[in-house]
Amino acid sequence: MSDCIFCKIAAKEIPASVVYEDEKVLAFKDINPAAPVHVLVIPKQHFSSAMDIGEKDADIIAHIFKVCQKLAVDLGIADRGFRIVNNCGQDGGQTVGHIHFHLLGGRNLGWPPG
Ligand code: 5GP
Ligand code: ZN
Repeated sequence: MSDCIFCKIAAKEIPASVVYEDEKVLAFKDINPAAPVHVLVIPKQHFSSAMDIGEKDADIIAHIFKVCQKLAVDLGIADRGFRIVNNCGQDGGQTVGHIHFHLLGGRNLGWPPG
């Protein structure tokens, strides 16, 4: 989508600190990290939120989780554990309208979230 900041990052129209890329997925460091490791994993295809995902999208969602696994190993947080977060909608705290998965780790994250 033309006015979507994460589509622009995926298209390299806006710079980001990219840690992983393939033809379907981009992962980059969050600009305002909430943990020592805080990466955003996005599909290059625009989906507005989790509410946009259908059965036909099973492959891309599974792929995103495989990318999260690889990044957890590569970034050194796989052994101690980590969190994958998807915020959806206003009460969920979603501020960017392109689905993204936060990969957080490097400290004890606490539970429940705020
Ligand atoms: P949400 O609140 O929608 O779940 O998460 C959006 C995340 O995107 C926030 O953690 C925010 O810091 C991050 N973010 C927003 N704009 C940018 C940007 O231009 N570049 C990067 N790298 N992260 C961004
Ligand atoms: Zn988008």
